[in-house]
Amino acid sequence: MQSEKSDGKIMFEIVGLCLKLDQYAHNAYLALSSSAADKDLASFWQKMAAEEFEHVQFWKMVLEHPAQLETLPRVFDRPAEILQELEETLEKAQTLMQKGCDSLSVEEAFTLAYRLEFYLLHPAFQVLFNLLSFLVDHPCLDSAYETHIRNFFEAISRHGHASPALELLGETLDRLWKENRRLARQATRDYLTGCLNRQAFMEISLHLCLLAKRQDEAVGVMMIDLDRFKKINDTWGHQVGDLVLKASGKIIRSGLRASDVVARYGGEEFVVLMPGAQHRMVVQAANRIREAFAAQSIEKVQPTLSVGVALGKMEGDVEACLYELIRQADMKLYQAKQAGRNRVVC
Ligand code: GH3
Ligand code: MG
Ligand code: MG
Repeated sequence: MQSEKSDGKIMFEIVGLCLKLDQYAHNAYLALSSSAADKDLASFWQKMAAEEFEHVQFWKMVLEHPAQLETLPRVFDRPAEILQELEETLEKAQTLMQKGCDSLSVEEAFTLAYRLEFYLLHPAFQVLFNLLSFLVDHPCLDSAYETHIRNFFEAISRHGHASPALELLGETLDRLWKENRRLARQATRDYLTGCLNRQAFMEISLHLCLLAKRQDEAVGVMMIDLDRFKKINDTWGHQVGDLVLKASGKIIRSGLRASDVVARYGGEEFVVLMPGAQHRMVVQAANRIREAFAAQSIEKVQPTLSVGVALGKMEGDVEACLYELIRQADMKLYQAKQAGRNRVVC
């Protein structure tokens, strides 16, 4: 318990360093903008600065979250190592920036920006974007990054500085970003449905439950299981079964808020955590998902699903409370199956 607490504090420091690094990039792009040779270039750096500012705002939101917990969810296996790597990265960025941004040629300016972007590609950023977006109810920022990188390519070409060296740097960044995204998703998401995996779900949910306890709010849990899924596999084959699973992940997510946590719990079973939810809201969401799912057909299959719903406040041990809610939702799910499937029981 003691070590978990200090890991939580390390997480807080990690987010603090992410904030600083993005702030560096933001300031650097502002400086590049004010010393840019022409208007178009100046507005390009402005735009880059604005995108970094969004990241800065994201980290601030995480750090200033209303509940002000001294711990953040532990999302890394070795947080102390990540912290040290980010500290080293920050030092490098500081050294880089000491030389200043004035009187740089266009090529030098882009090289500087690429080096900064390289520092910002530490995998910790993507893992945190992926997981903390639930905490602050903010859409995940990692997809916006693709355009951010692409904008560099375009600007360099537009200004006639697309030297082989800069192009190589750009391609390296792009490749690294994609690799990072793949790793971040691998660590936190289920490959088939894109939903969180069970471990990531528990980490995030425990934290959200702690917040709910502080704010004296209820937490809703849904257990969702596809009906007669074995028969779908047996009749239409596993590939069609996989398509049905993919579609269910998508439909479940689209029926919920960004702050609700959706995970693939096991085979054809999903779990949803809805912090700060009211009973009626959870039941409505469950029915919305059930109806949307039953209304579609996937490769001639018309699958249905059943949902068990539980809701409660966090009292005493939060972890035990969460497990109890999951157990209750699972029991309700069983009742939904017994009662004929394609239904919600709460
Ligand atoms: P019920 O309505 O009672 O839930 O019946 P069911 O057939 O859905 O439940 P059961 O637990 O008997 O079968 C679940 C099936 O899900 C068995 C398993 O082969 C299949 N399954 C689990 N994971 C995957 C997967 O990743 N892809 C595919 N295609 N099938 C999977
Ligand atoms: Mg099933
Ligand atoms: Mg099942």
